[in-house]
Amino acid sequence: MDYHEDEGWHDARIVPYAPLEMDPASIVFHYGQAVFEGLKAYPSSDHALLFRPDKNFQRLNTSNERMNIPPVDERFLVDALKQLVQLDQDWLPNQEGQSLYIRPFIIGTEAALSVKPAAQYKLMIILSPVGAYYTGGDQLSPVSIYVEDDFVRSVRGGVGFAKTAGNYAASLKAQMNAATYGYDQVLWLDAVEKRYIEEVGSMNIFFKINGEVYTPPLNGSILPGITRDSVIELIRYWGYTIREEPITVDEVIAAHQNGELEEVFGTGTAAVISPVGILKWKDEEITINENKAGKLALDLYDTITSIQTGSQTDSFGWTKHVPLV
Ligand code: PMP
Repeated sequence: MDYHEDEGWHDARIVPYAPLEMDPASIVFHYGQAVFEGLKAYPSSDHALLFRPDKNFQRLNTSNERMNIPPVDERFLVDALKQLVQLDQDWLPNQEGQSLYIRPFIIGTEAALSVKPAAQYKLMIILSPVGAYYTGGDQLSPVSIYVEDDFVRSVRGGVGFAKTAGNYAASLKAQMNAATYGYDQVLWLDAVEKRYIEEVGSMNIFFKINGEVYTPPLNGSILPGITRDSVIELIRYWGYTIREEPITVDEVIAAHQNGELEEVFGTGTAAVISPVGILKWKDEEITINENKAGKLALDLYDTITSIQTGSQTDSFGWTKHVPLV
């Protein structure tokens, strides 16, 4: 679908996957005016299930607003997405755990070398089958995280809450460093005091301390994850106290030293729930729950994936049915 300032969003169409031809002066190449989303469709008997697609398109519009991109009609996009999923059923899995990854994105396509928001855009949705995130025997195998305190991902008043390309560009170097030091993911801290925990590479983060569950609040510099939102709703429903409060690395390490840090896990579309087994900060490296997935992480994973695939009733109204005929 295209946008032109005189015509608004227009010309929605489904075309075979192919390279794009673009002007080298397109604003997206120089000034990074780009936003995206990530969600999945799961196969379930004779239909597919989309997990909270309305939330993804709401978040797309929040990102658009911040990046000065014109808003899109969220209902129209959910309907368009259903048509896309119905059209191409080659993705239907023959292996347990497979799903269809969906990547909507918008780029500023106007050719202009001056710094300004584009007057023309393209919105595209690409679809790709993906295998199970956890395979074989390593269901919910814990990851190790490296607390980054040289670089920051985003600042308050910046674009951290938007799903915009630049946030990911800014994180690449730190992610490579963490991998070089032998850790799977980066844990970001706040930009001012470098003490408050923000989020992990492509996940939000939760800590179970002394029976209560903590997660950093949506302060403008972290991405409001849709899995995060679902996990909070479930945890509350199960009767846990959930604290969306600022939490520092010192507090997490102190809780570990007191024997109160029970579980740490990340949440996101790809992994759903990813237990954290090792946390490295400065000279300290702590091992959480003997580097094993904890009970809360396992329960959350089972419940959310059962709702996503339709094997458990969706009493939260999260899934949207797409008949496959
Ligand atoms: N934070 C960042 C930076 C991410 O890229 C993602 C993945 N979209 C998340 C958190 C988790 O968000 P969600 O649960 O919507 O996938």
